[in-house]
Amino acid sequence: MAKIPLTPVIRIDEQKCVNCYACITGCPVKFCMDASKEKVLIDPDLCIGCGNCISVCHHEARHLVDDTASFFSDLKRGDKIVAVVAPAVASVFPGQHLKLNGYLKSLGVEAFFDVSLGAELTVISYLNYIKAKNPRMVIAQPCPAIVSYIEIYHPELIPYLAPADSPMLHTIKMIREYFPQYRDYKIVVISPCIAKRREFDETGLGEYNVTMFALKKYLKDQNIDLSSKPEVAYTGILAERAVQFSSPGGLLDTAERFVPGIRRNTRKIEGLPNIYPYLTEIAELLNEKDVEFPLLIDCLNCEKGCNGGSGTGNHSVPLDKLEGPIRKRSEEHEKQIASQKKKNYEKYHEQLNRLWKRGLYDRSYRNLSGNLVLKHPSDTELTEIYRKMKKYDKSHLYDCGACGYGSCKGMATAIFNCINKPENCAHYTLAVLKEKKDTEELNRALHEHIGYASNILEGINSLVDELHTVIDLQAEAVERSSSITGQMITAIKDTSKASIEKQEDIKELIENASQSQESMRETIQSVEGISQSVGGIAQAIKIISAIAANTNLLSMNAAIEAAHAGEAGRGFAVVSGEIRRLSESTRENSQNISKTLKNIINGISVTSKQSGDTNGRITEMSKEINGIAETMTNLINTLSELSTGSDEITAALKNLRNQSNVMKTNYAEILTKTNQLHSAMLELTDLSEHNQTPPAILAAAQ
Ligand code: SF4
Ligand code: SF4
Ligand code: SF4
Repeated sequence: MAKIPLTPVIRIDEQKCVNCYACITGCPVKFCMDASKEKVLIDPDLCIGCGNCISVCHHEARHLVDDTASFFSDLKRGDKIVAVVAPAVASVFPGQHLKLNGYLKSLGVEAFFDVSLGAELTVISYLNYIKAKNPRMVIAQPCPAIVSYIEIYHPELIPYLAPADSPMLHTIKMIREYFPQYRDYKIVVISPCIAKRREFDETGLGEYNVTMFALKKYLKDQNIDLSSKPEVAYTGILAERAVQFSSPGGLLDTAERFVPGIRRNTRKIEGLPNIYPYLTEIAELLNEKDVEFPLLIDCLNCEKGCNGGSGTGNHSVPLDKLEGPIRKRSEEHEKQIASQKKKNYEKYHEQLNRLWKRGLYDRSYRNLSGNLVLKHPSDTELTEIYRKMKKYDKSHLYDCGACGYGSCKGMATAIFNCINKPENCAHYTLAVLKEKKDTEELNRALHEHIGYASNILEGINSLVDELHTVIDLQAEAVERSSSITGQMITAIKDTSKASIEKQEDIKELIENASQSQESMRETIQSVEGISQSVGGIAQAIKIISAIAANTNLLSMNAAIEAAHAGEAGRGFAVVSGEIRRLSESTRENSQNISKTLKNIINGISVTSKQSGDTNGRITEMSKEINGIAETMTNLINTLSELSTGSDEITAALKNLRNQSNVMKTNYAEILTKTNQLHSAMLELTDLSEHNQTPPAILAAAQ
């Protein structure tokens, strides 16, 4: 069944709503409320217009919606309007209700009709229907909130709703039918009920629903004093006791006048806590054949009747204060009528019957159950919703009513239909508070640990900074070392190469030294041989010298002899002289030779000695050259090993440089990460501190 949109009759001032959920508690249907958002909103298609949320909201967040503004505007414009005034007016404007007519007449309202008269006709409609159809029961329907409730929530009761108009619609139809001079007039209803708008929308009758509350406010805002206004009476015949229709039981009293004793077969019931559960009950009993329902159900939405109706603002005025003026008016009317008919109602009823016509006041109803698209959770779904509400066992189903539904199941159903949320459940809030308390303790611990971790992190950060410096230095050193090592290795290789080349030279040197030593040895031997030869010569010279001396001696002797020999010896003396000169010359030459030989021997001796020394030095030098050669060999070997190892060093240095670069990259990453970690820790600290701050209201309570 399709949804039929209904006119909103409640306005919400979201600024003033404090989410107390009193409106849900007070709402008889509950599922018209949407508490899933920040504020409690209304789905007008499910609202029956009972007005109770206005009464129970102590935060002025709920206001009625009516047509007061458009009525005054259209009246001012000159629209032709007649007024239909509900009997509650005598209660809301005590002693001044006819002056109100006077004021409105002064503004241009042409005529005034008393809904009490329509109520008299309504009772006739009911009784005629009962007489004609003998129904199982008749649910009176003067109250549009009850009609909407049945249409939306219990359409199975529609057949039991009196198929007759409300007193207001009776009045309007009466005007249209029996007061043709006003047939084209717009009708303003001075009403005690916000839900009348719904009735007008459904039937197409009635242009303005002007609530008495709004009217009072208008008069106050405009500083209008009714006491100074003339009284203007209602058009048409006087209503009798139906002027009490606005009080609970008013219908019954009126019906009693027609059918004495009907009271015994009537259920009089009013007020939200009673009427809606009662209607639900009878709806459930419909199929039980043996259940005896009352013939007439005289029911009203408002506990104090229409005198304290949703459009009066009088719901908290004491009942007797409300009904006093009504009773007084009723008595006055009864008196007037009694004097007219001399205690005989027949004439009065005839007058009424002249305003009643079969079929004129018939009423049908709409089935609005299509507006109710409420899904009911299965047991499994219910359990899941309860889990979201932190209800894990039966003891968590408080049914405390704080959410407004009166039961946890009702709330769960609302959540299931997305018109409420777990956060609005009292148990949930308590559970969260408990968790919060636990969380706060955890938070405190967390805060401490975060502080501790932050300190460590700061330490790490400064270490990382130091590491950064060290890494830079190390990288620099590695670079420098690489370059120096490279140079060194080149030098080693060059040196090694040069040493190998020099080794050849040294080998040659050794060979040369060895050869020199050999030559020296040979020289020494030669010198020794010469020395020996020179010695032999000196010996021979000595012999020659001795021979020469002897020869000289002999020649002297020969000369002496030759001298002795005279002339004969002259030749011999010459010869002997020559021999002596020869021997002397020989001796002199021998001496010179000897001297020379001595010098030669001395020279040889010196040469021999020097050769010996030179030989010794050459031997020493040779030894040292050998030593150098050996050292050189060792050096070359070492250089060779160094050269071989240098490749490994180069590779290692390259590796070290790579590692150093990786370290630098890693360091940058570590730095970024530690900075991120540090920021995260700071955020965590903030969060932890924030979490530790109790909400203002709790803080104030602590
Ligand atoms: S007027 Fe009545 S039905 Fe409508 S939201 Fe308010 S309490 Fe509920
Ligand atoms: S009664 Fe309803 S509208 Fe009023 S403050 Fe409470 S939740 Fe809001
Ligand atoms: S415990 Fe929660 S769901 Fe149950 S009635 Fe209370 S507030 Fe509503």
